[in-house]
Amino acid sequence: MHRVLKNQIARASAEKGELDIDALLQLVSKSYSEFDRERGRQEHANQLMMAEVEEVNAARDAVLERLSQEHRKLDAALENMAHGLGMYDADERLIVANRRFGGRVSRARDLRARTYSENLQAVRHKILSFDQPLEDIPYLMASGTPAERMVELADGRTVSISFQPLIGGGWVQVERDISEQRRADEKIRYLARHDSLTGLANRAVFNEVITEELERRPNESIGLLCLDLDHFKSVNDTLGHPIGDALLKIVAQRLQRQVREGDVVARLGGDEFAVLQLGGEQPAAAERLSKAIVESLIGSYEIDGHSVQVGVSIGIAVAPVDGHDAETLMRNADIALYRAKSDGRGVFRFFEAGMDEKMQARRQLEMDLRQALLQRQFEVFYQPLVDIPTQKVNACEALLRWRHPVRGLVPPDSFIPLAEEIGLIVDIGEWVLEQACQEACGWSPDISVAVNVSPAQFGSMRLVKAVERALKKSGLSPDRLELEITESVLINDTAHTLELLHRLKGLGVRISMDDFGTGYSSLSYLRRFPFDKLKIDRSFIGDLTRDPEASAIVRAVIQLANTLGMSTTAEGVEDSDQRDLLQALNCRQFQGYLVSKPIDATALHAFLGPKTLTKDRSVA
Ligand code: C2E
Ligand code: CA
Ligand code: CA
Repeated sequence: MHRVLKNQIARASAEKGELDIDALLQLVSKSYSEFDRERGRQEHANQLMMAEVEEVNAARDAVLERLSQEHRKLDAALENMAHGLGMYDADERLIVANRRFGGRVSRARDLRARTYSENLQAVRHKILSFDQPLEDIPYLMASGTPAERMVELADGRTVSISFQPLIGGGWVQVERDISEQRRADEKIRYLARHDSLTGLANRAVFNEVITEELERRPNESIGLLCLDLDHFKSVNDTLGHPIGDALLKIVAQRLQRQVREGDVVARLGGDEFAVLQLGGEQPAAAERLSKAIVESLIGSYEIDGHSVQVGVSIGIAVAPVDGHDAETLMRNADIALYRAKSDGRGVFRFFEAGMDEKMQARRQLEMDLRQALLQRQFEVFYQPLVDIPTQKVNACEALLRWRHPVRGLVPPDSFIPLAEEIGLIVDIGEWVLEQACQEACGWSPDISVAVNVSPAQFGSMRLVKAVERALKKSGLSPDRLELEITESVLINDTAHTLELLHRLKGLGVRISMDDFGTGYSSLSYLRRFPFDKLKIDRSFIGDLTRDPEASAIVRAVIQLANTLGMSTTAEGVEDSDQRDLLQALNCRQFQGYLVSKPIDATALHAFLGPKTLTKDRSVA
């Protein structure tokens, strides 16, 4: 019998001495109710516990899921990273490796679980070279020293490998394929040392080469030629940079054809080139080479349907006489080049002591010239032109003068070429135009004014605007303005030049061909543009009455002009015999000391007489 029931029977019998069934039933039923309550509590507790366990299980599953997600992401990242990545453990065994590990030399899965030394052995034959030993990596890692190695593979690739030791042993190894970067670096290095247009050495490299060669050949003489193309700027300005670039390339090729094996050709910048001449007998070798270069470069180039003319000037310095170092040699060759250019272009000059001072003087002149316009040191003189049939002045040529505070009156021939070279002629030329138009308004209306226009002003359409402005500002009738241009404007015979000339003519002004017979004397341009007038250069007139050849030329020119419907002017007429002969040859106009030298505006008024004063000059 159950201990509880035994107890209850005892308790139900206790009062009356015998078993009280009712009391017993009460006791039993109470017991049951208690039992039920207890079981209910138990069940509740069980449920609570079950719920808790489920919660814990769900949480654990979530964590596992997250972990495996992280793991997959990490795996994906590892597999997709651009570099090879591997991890060796403390026993030097590869425990992690992504797909790229092994540098495509070996498959990562073949390397996994093997030691570093085994793996190195396996790929050894595919390695061409390395910058530092690969064997000692395990020792370095064990001592906690990070390392980096550059490895060239047999297939041409370059791989950089970094080794990063881990706390507790082992290391992480990252392999980067740097072949592209290496190629780019090499390209940059090449570009930094070469001129990208011509492929020639650039200035920096050229200087290095000079220094090296001077050291290598202490007892030899070396020639240094500095070259500058003549008229290149006008090619660039009128035909555009693509044509200019093409021209530079051809020049570079022709130069390389002239030099001997071992000589170095460089492009120093713009249209400047240089040659280092080695192993020749100097100065004879430099002279020979310069002549050959001048001959091969001067002339006409056919580029893209354009006929382009350039020349070259060369300055030469010879080591060791003209300098022991690159800097001095370059400077002296440059000075000689300046000299060559001012001596008329298309020539070469050796450096000479004393040239330096001349160049300083030229620099000074350049600085003064830049100041001159600002400080109003320019003045326009005028020289009358006489109409031969009527013997009357019917035009005056504006001729520029520079009243220099120290040098006095400077003639145009000594500064206009420089002003053209430095581009200042554009501003000066526009100033002359305005002055001349203004001045001409004070003359009798049957007297025109002739203004010289420099080829350098033909670079842009700006000239058309300048002429328009000068006419408008002064109120001068366009048919009283003549523009004198020289043959050199047409040397780069281009659509641009012709368009500009036609536009000028469209304004109603006249165009004269100045200094006819001195330039490149290609008569073809006379057909291409309807000049109003030919001005026969004074070099023909000076000999006119003495030299039958000169008179034959002048006669032919006048006939040609008449046939083409152009007027003619003879320049530099100094005596009446010349004038009479010109009259007999049917020349229309002349100009020269016979009538008057160029004189200032006031003197011109006196010369032309008061009747020509149609305007109050003090207002003008
Ligand atoms: P050009 O256009 O041929 O001007 C005529 C030159 O011949 C002038 O020299 C004049 O003084 C000189 N001349 C005139 N008659 C005689 C003569 O009978 N005998 C001699 N021996 N010479 C005579 P100038 O004034 O020294 O000018 C020289 C050159 O400078 C001009 O030659 C012209 O090409 C240039 N020039 C002058 N002014 C200007 C200007 O405003 N702009 C530009 N671009 N050039 C100018
Ligand atoms: Ca002239
Ligand atoms: Ca002239």
